[in-house]
Amino acid sequence: MKDRSLRAHFPFFSHPQNQQLLYFDNAATTQKPDIVISTITDYYSIHNVNVHRASYQLAANTTSKFEQSRVFVQEFIHARYASEIIFTKGATESINLIAIALAETNLPEGGRILVSATEHHANLVPWQQLAKKKGLHIDVIPIDSNGCWQVEQGLSLISDKTCIVALGMVSNALGSVNKVGVFIEKAKQFNSITVLDAAQAVSHLELNVQSLDCDFLVFSGHKAYGPTGIGVLYGKQARLNALPVFLTGGEMIEKVDYQTSSFQPPPFKFEAGTPHVEGVLGLHQALQFIQTHRVEIKKNESALVDYLRQTLEQVDGVRLFGDADNSIATCSFIVEGCDSQDLGTLLNEQGIAVRVGHHCAMPLMNTLNVPGTLRISLACYNTVQEIDKFALALHQAIAKLNNVNLMTSDSGTQS
Ligand code: PMP
Repeated sequence: MKDRSLRAHFPFFSHPQNQQLLYFDNAATTQKPDIVISTITDYYSIHNVNVHRASYQLAANTTSKFEQSRVFVQEFIHARYASEIIFTKGATESINLIAIALAETNLPEGGRILVSATEHHANLVPWQQLAKKKGLHIDVIPIDSNGCWQVEQGLSLISDKTCIVALGMVSNALGSVNKVGVFIEKAKQFNSITVLDAAQAVSHLELNVQSLDCDFLVFSGHKAYGPTGIGVLYGKQARLNALPVFLTGGEMIEKVDYQTSSFQPPPFKFEAGTPHVEGVLGLHQALQFIQTHRVEIKKNESALVDYLRQTLEQVDGVRLFGDADNSIATCSFIVEGCDSQDLGTLLNEQGIAVRVGHHCAMPLMNTLNVPGTLRISLACYNTVQEIDKFALALHQAIAKLNNVNLMTSDSGTQS
């Protein structure tokens, strides 16, 4: 039997409403394969019970599927123990969990937090809040005019004052794959806490937390073909044991009396309340999909991004950002003389879904001195034919805007 194409796994594209749509906003969220959708439907149709609580068989079965999903995530990111995997709402909640819990610990007076100039707000604002509470300072790995990290300068910022190093593995705004390994290596010399934001990495790169040797790693399910509202916080066992609790209530306790409570060990210590059961089951299937098709996904995406880059390089006035040699399937660019928002609007009129703006990385856009960029973010199911259609639409949009510019400057000269 011939294997299905990757695209055929995604019912979104065969729905009449979407057949003409070019979906190029995968860094915002990916479409879902049918196995993820049917797993969620089956949960509500057949297996719906609360987990971890009841003694009856159906609850035991669903709890077992839920915990098998945790083991799958553990294996997927090569964690040492399943108890190092905590289910959260997403990358944002995972980072907040760490930052809020760390506020309850002793952090060194005058300590410093290292982030990069390309961080998503989700890996910046929680650290700013922590810095405010604890009197810490934020250092920023600088970038060059393309938005690539200046690694040596960044490394020189790590010192015995650095208590936290929190870095995005892949820039959501530019697509660049960042050299996080050398930063973790240096941070470890000072016993700094290392946090990796893998939100944009998880669907494109193989993750191995043991070889990365980070203390924490976070991602969201919905950017990796999984459901929304589910994410992962990986933490090294010793770091999780030392981290104070975040949310409190049912499920996370060991013993409660009217005055005090004791708490379970990780992961349950950090999973108060009823979890997002169908999210966890769906995430399991999404990661399984990636694992099963990893070679094909990688092949498709690297061919697509090479083609997209070449296509864009041929368009007059295009200025591409990011690391051309080390990137996921995302291109971020501006067109000299054209407003990116106007281009986005004209592309939308042609049924092309792209993202325009600061991409939740305002400080990055300010540093690059642009109001925003146009971002094409591809996934395994996109095609070369779609890129060709996009290129044509982009040429037409640029021509139209240049005409308008010409007309307004002509009428300006006449008046
Ligand atoms: N980090 C990065 C690099 C991201 O791209 C995103 C989402 N755009 C996040 C964190 C936050 O993810 P979520 O909104 O799913 O919590």
